[in-house]
Amino acid sequence: MAAIILYTGTKACETGLWKELMDEASPELLDEISSLFQKSEKTAGFDIHRLRAWRAGSQIRVDFHMVLPQDLNLLEIAHEIAEVKNVLGVHYGGFVDVLVHTDPCGIS
Ligand SMILES: [Zn+2]
Repeated sequence: MAAIILYTGTKACETGLWKELMDEASPELLDEISSLFQKSEKTAGFDIHRLRAWRAGSQIRVDFHMVLPQDLNLLEIAHEIAEVKNVLGVHYGGFVDVLVHTDPCGIS
């Protein structure tokens, strides 16, 4: 039985099945997203750092920190986050899951 599982596992690796199932860091994706943020007028002025991005199956997962003015209220913060998420959502056609950590200006 173990031999069958081992063999199946080996075949799965050879066919790239595991690669599709597991999260995989992607330097190319980081470059692409950085470029998107720099070019978009919605994000060009923001301090975005600790950017991480990887593919998970058909999805792209992105998380990062974004510095916002300390005097924004929750509604304004939610609006700014939605704008930034929209930049990625439009580019990747909705196949993106974005998690944003906000830092108050002066504390990152
Ligand atoms: Zn930070």
